[in-house]
Amino acid sequence: MVTTVRSRSQSGLARTFDTLNPATSEVIGTFPIFGEDEVNDAVARAHEAAAWWGKLGWKERQRRLMAWKSYLIRYIGRLSELVHTETGKPLADAQLEILLAIVHIDWAARHARKILGPQRVRSGIVAINQASCLEYQPLGVVGVIGPWNYPVFTPMGSIAYALAAGNAVVFKPSEFTPAVGGALVSSFAEVVPDYPVLQLVTGLGETGSHLARSAVSKIAFTGSATTAKKVMAACAENLTPIVAECGGKDALIVAADANLDAAADGAVWGALSNAGQTCIGVERIYVAQDIYHTFLEKLAERVSALRPGDDREADYGPMTMPGQVDVIEQHIADAVASGGRAVVGGLGSIRRPYVGPVILADVPESSSAVTDETFGPTMTVTPVTDLAEGVRLANASRYGLGTSIFAKNKKAAMQAARALRSGMTSINSVISYASVPALPFGGSGESGFGRIHGADGLREFSRAKAITRQRMKPLVNLTAFTRTDADMKKILSLATILHGKRYQ
Ligand code: NAD
Repeated sequence: MVTTVRSRSQSGLARTFDTLNPATSEVIGTFPIFGEDEVNDAVARAHEAAAWWGKLGWKERQRRLMAWKSYLIRYIGRLSELVHTETGKPLADAQLEILLAIVHIDWAARHARKILGPQRVRSGIVAINQASCLEYQPLGVVGVIGPWNYPVFTPMGSIAYALAAGNAVVFKPSEFTPAVGGALVSSFAEVVPDYPVLQLVTGLGETGSHLARSAVSKIAFTGSATTAKKVMAACAENLTPIVAECGGKDALIVAADANLDAAADGAVWGALSNAGQTCIGVERIYVAQDIYHTFLEKLAERVSALRPGDDREADYGPMTMPGQVDVIEQHIADAVASGGRAVVGGLGSIRRPYVGPVILADVPESSSAVTDETFGPTMTVTPVTDLAEGVRLANASRYGLGTSIFAKNKKAAMQAARALRSGMTSINSVISYASVPALPFGGSGESGFGRIHGADGLREFSRAKAITRQRMKPLVNLTAFTRTDADMKKILSLATILHGKRYQ
């Protein structure tokens, strides 16, 4: 949680802000607000660092990234305490998030050379005299703007891959989690003390806006679609490219033949873990009519057993961002006013800063509880005739981030997964794709564009460089003013043989 900004004339950086523990409202720390000049200075330093880091080579970068990974796992206790204090999430969830981030650092470090390093490509018959080479070079400096809900895992999806690709990074964490951001940056400096390859700039939205307008080579933004539009507009001024990882309204579809216990377990975790503050959290559940009531009973039984709190036994924590509770309240109210019913909880579940779990059934598809990102511990459950209708309703959203399907029939599940317009789908589990570092992660529509993680994530932070080297003189030189009509005739005859076959 962030308190009001304070002016502090005696400090080097004129203004500061405090972060609060969302459960207790205690002040966790005071952080500087980086202004335009400070952000530009950090980016200038990052360009120097990028020149060094880029020249280090794959092996040396890999060695340092592996050392960072090892440092993070050895100090996971401290970092997870900090994540717990700043976001309010249970300690075990904080540890899980850090473990996943470590898996991604490891994968990016190990695979960067193979995916981005120089590779020969076939030149083809027209350019048979050329040796062709493709490689992916670093962009320079990547500005990473992060959210608060997974303050280690989420920005790491950009930071680790940008670093492994040979870039320096300037990281602006969310104003709700600057201490976690600071811990990530200082841990990297422990293993790479030579240059400021990963730097921290703290502040509110304005600091992010300065970063988007600075001399960065690319912005990796994670946050809401509303902010992404502002960041894109700022990036447009310098034609700075951007990868945007935004929100979602993820659907889970339960087919008639699904294992209902597994589906209910998955739905509960997907919707309620981290108090529902997960971009790929389950917000809408579509259930085949035949098993709708049985599934709803199983779901309600599990959900009723869970409770939020700050104690070690609590299943999930408080809402990290106080303002989000208003959105949750409005969505529950709209769902009920438009004909839906609260099967578990309801408006009474809101006890700031906590929100108890809520199941909303039979809510019309036009309600904001179905159309907009709630980002809270709520879910809507709706009957559908079959998988196909589930897919149709899941796709009828302006978001397209993640989805899940529970079904026994493998072929039908795969077919439905392919038809879902989301960037990622997990079958018979929830959110699993995020733990597979080789798989790309990202959305479409209001969920953003571009990809982090996997080979696509490495390429996202590099520029393709194509090189041809003439190995021998061409048989016919078409790109010279000495070219003759006979040369052209020869090449057209060859092209007709190669490409002129009739296709039915
Ligand atoms: P947010 O959009 O409010 O803020 C995100 C970041 O942008 C913060 O660091 C903020 O300071 C900065 N910012 C705000 N205004 C800015 C501006 N004008 N210019 C530049 N930067 C600016 O989002 P949030 O509340 O921190 O995060 C929650 C949202 O993030 C949800 O919508 C969630 O679904 C989404 N999210 C998406 C993913 C993903 O991978 N797709 C992951 C986590 C969270």
